[in-house]
Amino acid sequence: MKCNLCPVNCGADRQSGAFGRCGAGGIKIAKYYLHPFEEPLISFSKGSGCVFFCGCSLRCAFCQNYELSRNKRGKDISVKELSDIFRELEERGADNINLVTPTHYVDKIAEAFSIYRPRIPVVYNTHSYEKTETLEIVDTFADIYLPDLKFIDPLLSERYTGRADYAEYALPAVKFMAKKPLVLDENGKMLSGCIVRHLIMPLAVYDTIKIIDFVAGLPETTYFSLMSQYTPMGEAEKFPELRRGITKREYSAALDAIRAHGLKRVFLQDRTSSDRAFVPDWDF
Ligand code: SF4
Repeated sequence: MKCNLCPVNCGADRQSGAFGRCGAGGIKIAKYYLHPFEEPLISFSKGSGCVFFCGCSLRCAFCQNYELSRNKRGKDISVKELSDIFRELEERGADNINLVTPTHYVDKIAEAFSIYRPRIPVVYNTHSYEKTETLEIVDTFADIYLPDLKFIDPLLSERYTGRADYAEYALPAVKFMAKKPLVLDENGKMLSGCIVRHLIMPLAVYDTIKIIDFVAGLPETTYFSLMSQYTPMGEAEKFPELRRGITKREYSAALDAIRAHGLKRVFLQDRTSSDRAFVPDWDF
């Protein structure tokens, strides 16, 4: 069967052993655990029950999870084993099930939830390079969307991912995800909603400002999480401008744009928090 789950539409017959751009066949994961450092509405009490999937259809050159996104490590698991992981994370007290880079496994993940659907929220944590048709499937199991909106400028997305059409897909996808109704429990934990993330890139704060302009036009229930932890990883060394973290001036320009729009539901990350230590140790 040909796979067209993501905007690459490469039609790879994954069941017969062919690989598409994402590099994925069946289900492969690198780690699952209770992660304490997502946004506070998500890592609320015992931590977010993250499942890190291997392979990626976007393949950013600066990927912080490079070994995973290039499918260089990980463990193959069945649909049933994935549903067992959901159950285990729930039993360990996870605040939610957090599917990290799941796009190329959406059909298998939907199957796993048909075997066991935990009674905690499900977070869809994506690079936003998504087809809305695929998101219609995702919407049958996801309660919370955590889209990372990376670029609007096609020159940037082409340069760092090879996909000039990133924003053509990502902007409608984020609009779709931002429609999720906002629901918090009595303690303030998110049960349903959308948090749009964005990582400021060196020499690209002009694009960050365009993204903030876009976020300002989304429903006012949408949260915005500005990330400033860019640190050179993956193939970043090949790009001279990516060999440094962001500057104080770049960070301030992003904050000014947030203030100018009067955005209220905002999470900020301290500029000094950029560090390779934030990348987890992989289990498989
Ligand atoms: S999910 Fe993978 S195999 Fe499917 S269309 Fe996208 S890149 Fe190709």
